[in-house]
Amino acid sequence: MTHRIDDIYRPAEQRRRDFREVERPLSCAELHEQAARCMGCGIPFCHGAGCPLGNVIPEFNAAACSGDWRGAWEILSSTSSFPEFTSRVCPALCEGSCTDGIDDEPVMVRQIEKAIVEKAYQNGWVKPFTPPRRNGRRATVIGSGPAGLAAADELNRLGWLVTVFEANAAPGGLLRYGIPDFKLDKKVIERRIELMKQSGIEFVCGTRVGEDVSAAYLARRSDAVVLAVGTPEARDLKLPGRELAGIHFALEFLQGQNRVVGGELATVPVVAAGKRVVVIGGGDTGSDCVGTSIRQGAASVLQIEIMPKPPAERSPSTPWPMWPYVLRTSSSHKEGGERRWNISTRAFAGERGHVTALETVEVEWEFSPAGRPLKFAEIPGSERRIEADLVLLAMGFTGVRPDGVAAELGLAVDPRGRVLEDPARRIFCCGDTANGASLVVRALADGKRTAHRVNDAFHGGN
Ligand SMILES: Cc1cc2nc3c(=O)[nH]c(=O)nc-3n(C[C@H](O)[C@H](O)[C@H](O)COP(=O)(O)OP(=O)(O)OC[C@H]3O[C@@H](n4cnc5c(N)ncnc54)[C@H](O)[C@@H]3O)c2cc1C
Ligand code: SF4
Repeated sequence: MTHRIDDIYRPAEQRRRDFREVERPLSCAELHEQAARCMGCGIPFCHGAGCPLGNVIPEFNAAACSGDWRGAWEILSSTSSFPEFTSRVCPALCEGSCTDGIDDEPVMVRQIEKAIVEKAYQNGWVKPFTPPRRNGRRATVIGSGPAGLAAADELNRLGWLVTVFEANAAPGGLLRYGIPDFKLDKKVIERRIELMKQSGIEFVCGTRVGEDVSAAYLARRSDAVVLAVGTPEARDLKLPGRELAGIHFALEFLQGQNRVVGGELATVPVVAAGKRVVVIGGGDTGSDCVGTSIRQGAASVLQIEIMPKPPAERSPSTPWPMWPYVLRTSSSHKEGGERRWNISTRAFAGERGHVTALETVEVEWEFSPAGRPLKFAEIPGSERRIEADLVLLAMGFTGVRPDGVAAELGLAVDPRGRVLEDPARRIFCCGDTANGASLVVRALADGKRTAHRVNDAFHGGN
């Protein structure tokens, strides 16, 4: 029986010294074997319950297995606007609901998706799309992360003339300025943006709407506005000592490194080299901080998390086909550093204005009968001091500020920092702005859906 391949990375010793993508391409034989593991289920949960884009997974697996890569590309591109992004950074929600995963290991859907889209680029099958007829309507998209890009792409396909405004020097949002190059090479974004420009989409970068140009002005000169500005506000840890130098939000650190790799900056603004780094937050952003700290040459890297260590096997609280609550180990974790769970930070200590340590305490969790953590209590006597020269806060995002571009457009922001759209005034919201911090695949799916809502608001664009 063929097993799923665990070893999909370049050797750790090699990859921890560069910022190139960590995954190695699978060989033709490996791809064939892996695609053949798909059972072509009558009711494919991967496609129905798993993939937010509704990717038709068993069909593209079958085409890939038979070597019909062109056919596989036609199937994949019928539902997915930018599979080159998801096939690199998606946690593969589909694999959590793969039938093979019930008593074996799920099919390697994400790697097969990557092989399909890369073969499509190599063979020139990915082409700009110019609609046969323009409908005379203009849309302004604010923000060029995955949600804004997907909305722009779909509106263009529907015949709209689209202009995308972006505050940063280049498009891509967190794909470019958050997710490290070792997960997603930025050439992959540039390749796609070039095709979008050839399709007629205009990009105005280095322009912060609300500051450099008025949102109300853009709304007046457009038939519809799509707000896709992400969730820029990072969650803070307002504890004693927070004002000390050496404590930074994760994105300051990651963005700086991405700008150096991309040639926008000569040196990183937040340096991990030679330092004892502590990352607070056990999620993806924290893991990206681990990988980046290792590459910068940190003396040590410790990632701490207040939540308990997830189980090694799927928790009964998330039975198949739900997305499993289970311990996840990223490529960065395999490169070095240490992880600890059940740790709460009480204060930061410092000398001469710079952080030198965290004061922490261990916590104990109470679990639901199904194994879900419910609430915690501090363990008396478990207080510790963790030495640190650099602390990175990676505890998620709190949404959009109620002032700024949302306020200028007269849009309400709910208590969770999500902006509420106003279709009556032809102002729409998508991605993290509308739904809270989430995933690239969800931002893409929402951007595409939003484009159809915009078009439908004009009676199908006629
Ligand atoms: C470090 C990190 C790593 C992540 N890793 C993964 C991962 O591996 N897999 C995954 O699926 N998800 C990951 N995510 C989550 C994912 O990146 C986001 O869910 C996704 O990018 C949201 O897309 P978006 O388009 O809604 O917003 P964003 O990607 O945040 O894009 C918003 C864009 O709007 C622009 N903007 C904001 N205000 C203005 C303005 N006033 N005028 C003009 N432009 C403006 C911003 O500059 C930005 O370019 C990660 C997130 C972070 C922070
Ligand atoms: S986008 Fe994500 S969930 Fe959908 S098929 Fe690809 S890896 Fe699976």
